[in-house]
Amino acid sequence: MTIYYSLIEKRNTNELHIFEQTKIKKFYTISEKSICKSSSDNNGQKKFNRKNDDETRELCVEYGRQVCGRCISNLYGNFDDD
Ligand SMILES: [Zn+2]
Repeated sequence: MTIYYSLIEKRNTNELHIFEQTKIKKFYTISEKSICKSSSDNNGQKKFNRKNDDETRELCVEYGRQVCGRCISNLYGNFDDD
């Protein structure tokens, strides 16, 4: 199983949240909630799709403050609150 990330805009807001996609064999499954758990809009506009964690970090820097800070923290693995 491999994990990829997508950056998805929460509809009717300017917030961008990160969703995990797991790949098992040929099939991708997108998580129901963002990695910060505060967005469940996984059908919004995708800013990027199925990137690895390094690529995701770089791309999120380009989007800057529009990206949810809690999602970013989760991506860096220093988010303690579950
Ligand atoms: Zn978020």
